[in-house]
Formats: sequence, C-alpha cells, structure tokens
Amino acid sequence: MKDRNTPLIFERSRPGRRATCMPSADVPVRPIEDLLPAASRAAEPPPLPELAEPDIVRHFTSLSTRNMAVDTHFYPLGSCTMKYNPKRNERLASLPGLADLHPYQPEDSLQGLFHILHELQQMLAEISGLPGVTLQPAAGAHGELTALMIAAAHFRRLGQRRTKVLTPDTSHGTNPASARMAGFQTVTLQSTPEGYVDLDDLETKLDEQVAVLMVTNPNTLGLFDQQIRQVSERVHARGGLVYLDGANMNAILGIARPSDFGADMMHFNPHKTFSSPHGGGGPGAGPVCVSQALEPYLPLPIVARVDSKYRLIQERPHSIGRVRSYFGNVGVLVRAYCYIRTLGPAGLRRVSEDAVLNANYLLSLIKHFLVVPHGDRCLHEFVASAAEVKKTRGVRGMDLAKRLLDYGFHAPTVYFPLTVPEAIMIEPTETESKETLDAFAETLFRILEEPLDRLQEAPYTTPISRPDEVQAARKPILRWTCD
Ligand SMILES: *Cc1c(COP(=O)(O)O)cnc(C)c1O
Repeated sequence: MKDRNTPLIFERSRPGRRATCMPSADVPVRPIEDLLPAASRAAEPPPLPELAEPDIVRHFTSLSTRNMAVDTHFYPLGSCTMKYNPKRNERLASLPGLADLHPYQPEDSLQGLFHILHELQQMLAEISGLPGVTLQPAAGAHGELTALMIAAAHFRRLGQRRTKVLTPDTSHGTNPASARMAGFQTVTLQSTPEGYVDLDDLETKLDEQVAVLMVTNPNTLGLFDQQIRQVSERVHARGGLVYLDGANMNAILGIARPSDFGADMMHFNPHKTFSSPHGGGGPGAGPVCVSQALEPYLPLPIVARVDSKYRLIQERPHSIGRVRSYFGNVGVLVRAYCYIRTLGPAGLRRVSEDAVLNANYLLSLIKHFLVVPHGDRCLHEFVASAAEVKKTRGVRGMDLAKRLLDYGFHAPTVYFPLTVPEAIMIEPTETESKETLDAFAETLFRILEEPLDRLQEAPYTTPISRPDEVQAARKPILRWTCD
C-alpha cells in the first residue's frame, strides 16, 4: 500500500536548508538598504519551505506517480475520450521554433505558426462542413459559450427576441451552464427510452423564442440519433439554430459531417478527439466552427491569408469581440494539427472506426454480467448500469469504480448521464489493444463476485480512498496555512 500520509513540502522544511550554495561575492556588495527602500521590504521573509534539492525532487517526483494517467493505465473515462497522446506530437510542439515564440512578436516573424493555425482552421472547417472557424476558445465549455454569444449577436442583429436554449436531459452539464452564462433560459428536452431526442417533446417546446437547440450526437449514451436531420429541420423551420456539442466527434470523423445533419455551429475538443493531453485541469482548447451566415460574428483575431502572407484580422463590425488572450491555447492546437496532418483523411476515419469497434467489443463482453440498458450496439462509448446489482446485492456503481482502481484501471465515468440509474459510462478509445480490453472486462467480472463489504471499503491501494466529494467540491482546501 502506498503511504497515505505523505507530508506536505512545508512539513519537510528545516530552517536554513538550501537547494543552492551561492559563492561569496568577489566584488563590493551594496547593502540591501541601498537597493530596496525599507518601506518596500517585508518585515519577515515569506514562510517558504526550506529544503535541499534532492528532497524537493523526490517529493515532487513521488507526488507525480500517485495519480493514474493515460501513459500509465487504461483510462476508459466515458465522454472524456482519454486516448493515448502520441509522443511525436509532443516533440513537434516543443520544437524551439514553436515553443519559444512570443505572441507579441511582429507578425512577419510568426508566419510559420500562422500557417499552422490557418491550415488547422481549414481542416476543422472540412471535418465539420462549417466554413467559419475560431481557434480562440480555451476549452469545449468555452466554445459552447462563444457559440451561444454568436447566436445571441445574430438574433440581436435580426431584431428577434429569442430567450431560450433547448438541451436534452442526457446533455453534458456544461450545455445548460453555458446557456445560462450567455444569458439564455434553458429548457430541458426529454429523451425517448432509447436515448434519442423525443420529437413530440421537441414539438411542444419549440417556439419562436427558441434561439438554439444544443445537441450531442452521438449522444452521451454512445448512440447516433438517426432522426437528427428531422430534429434540425424542425428547429430551422422555427428560425432557430442547431449547436452540435462535438465532444463525441471521435465516433464519426470522416464518416458523418455535422453540417450535413443540420448543425449551424459546433465545437471540437482537440484534447479529446485530436489527442492533446488533458485532465487534471490542464489546458484544452475549444475551436468553434460556424456556418457562413454566422461568420461575421466570430471572435477576433482570426488568422487569414492575405496576398501570400498570413495576417491577423483584428476588426470586423459584427464580431462578438475577443474571448481569449492572444491566439488561443496554441500548444494544444499545434498538437491537434500534427495529429490530423499525420493521420490524414483516411487515418482519421480509421480512428473512428477503431474507436467504435473497441467500444462494441467491450460492450459485447460486459453485457453478459452488467446490464447495458440502451441496446446491443454503440458508437464510441456505452453506458452500463449497476442498478440491478444494487437492488440484489447493494453494490453501487461507485463501489465498482473504486475497486477497479485497486486493479490498476482508471475508473469509468459514473452517475452520468443522469438518465441511467447507477450509470457506468465506458469509452475505451481506439488506442487500446484487445488484451487490455479483455483484462478490463475480466477484472470487472471478478470484482462483481467479491463480497459487498470488500467493495464498499475500496480502494485499498490508492493514496486517498474515499474523500467526501461534496465537501471537497464545496469547501476545497487549496492552500496551506501555518496554524
Ligand atoms: C468534455 C465535454 C464537454 C466540455 O468540454 P471541456 O473541454 O471539458 O470544457 C462538453 N460536452 C461533452 C459531451 C463533453 O464530453
């Protein structure tokens, strides 16, 4: 078992320990009073930990091994697309010609980067079928907000007062949250028992006040809504816009084009679909693609090609303005660019085919011992339910997720989507081997055979077992204090 009580670096501190040894100065030293007036100096030195270099290195290196990561463990986190991040993209993104750039450099000296960003805009336009692209948003949720601000600007200019955004009950929590932040009222749409948009419910809630329908397709149950065209047509018939939450693009790259099924706007999550590393609050990106009619509202700047040079367009009369500093999270975008360029159209299609194949293979193994309420087939992910074993034996989805950690598997997403009781949402991604998928299914099967009390106390091997998640979210302790 790993040590659960690793001291904080502050607790390891010993007065006077140092990581560096400065040689004595061989030039005259001016007294500190001459350099910094007393009024600008603190009375006491700051309470920073005092340690030798090896102790610092060991402390942080050991902390860095206490988490699971895609590089160390299978990570079937449904909806999050935790696929392996090819190291090639890391190498390319850290080339000095890219990594050492500064956003305030003259535009003429940023031509290489702009070339990359411009081509990325074009590639995302091609994949989505939507020609207007902004790379600025910093994450998927930020892309949603950006697109809804674009929609608001569009309807303002048309002189239409539209106050509502429709989101299905299976939607990701960011959808209604973004709608609220953009000043809309959210209205929840019911799903059919199969998990699709309920056309009857849509009909009763669709009116001239609806600005946008936000839809995730394939949805969070891993199902492609076959009626999506009809859904879009109905929204368009009432003058509304369709927003595709593109977090699940990993299932349909090069197979289905969002503009073809009616999307007017969408975001990509390059950190999911295009393999940029993510998790732990690290950087992501949320490029947004829009139809031609919505292009004038895109945030600025936009990288454009003008007379064989790349330029930043800084002004457009109807733009919603800036949503992120500089050109967005460029490191993430460069990795996504390398990934797309490396694979090409056929490779991207293969990514989706393999992701769907892997998910269906795992589904076919797991459905023999866990109920999968929504069908025999899925796209890139599927949602199993522990409701049955909870009823018969008291085993909850959370217990299974926690116990998996002891066997070296990152837990799947649990309790989402909200429409499936005791949901266990599994997304293996295309980068896993058959052996890994077999081992995961077998482990889950064995865990289900374990006694209830064994499961309820799990995990046993992690630094922290079962934190109070509500307290952790409401009252996080993010700062060390001396007292
Ligand atoms: C991940 C995700 C989001 C939010 O994207 P972030 O990049 O995490 O902000 C939105 N919708 C769905 C379906 C997602 O899976």
